[in-house]
Amino acid sequence: MIIKDSEFGEVIVRKNALSRGVRFSVSTSGRLSMSVPRHTPDFLLKKYLNLNREVIRKKLPLSDPSTQKTRDYQKKVLMKKARAYLPYRLEYYAHLYGYSYGKCRLSHAGTRWGSCSSNKTISLNIGLMKIPEPLRDYVILHELAHLNHMDHSKAFWAEVGSHDKRYKEHDKKLKMFSPGL
Ligand SMILES: [Zn+2]
Repeated sequence: MIIKDSEFGEVIVRKNALSRGVRFSVSTSGRLSMSVPRHTPDFLLKKYLNLNREVIRKKLPLSDPSTQKTRDYQKKVLMKKARAYLPYRLEYYAHLYGYSYGKCRLSHAGTRWGSCSSNKTISLNIGLMKIPEPLRDYVILHELAHLNHMDHSKAFWAEVGSHDKRYKEHDKKLKMFSPGL
């Protein structure tokens, strides 16, 4: 079967009885294919792809400058949108639920949607502007809850759950997306 990906285009999927894990390869024509164990459900394919973006990029032939240009441009647009939205959304929820944080930083690197440091700086990935609002809000509420719990303890999740009743579903759905461009 073939799945479509916004970054890699058409990806050929081979379900193979002998495969034990996921493997990515690139044909001489530059087409990406992945081989997975035979009973891998389809929803996992997209997830595997997202989890391995960095690895796959290294395998692919160097992208041409026009692609790089497009990516730079997309990043600029995303940063602009993020700057006009994320700090205010964070402020809104902090105010609503009585949190006080230090700074809000916008990030665009790496694979993390957000983080909360011990000096109460909350970082949010500009890639959040590409995903559905409930998931974006979930990430914000997740990081705010880290102000009170610097771990993923039961108490932490209870606090997240008190602000976002569907946090489990949102956390799961988030794995279908990748913060990178
Ligand atoms: Zn966390």
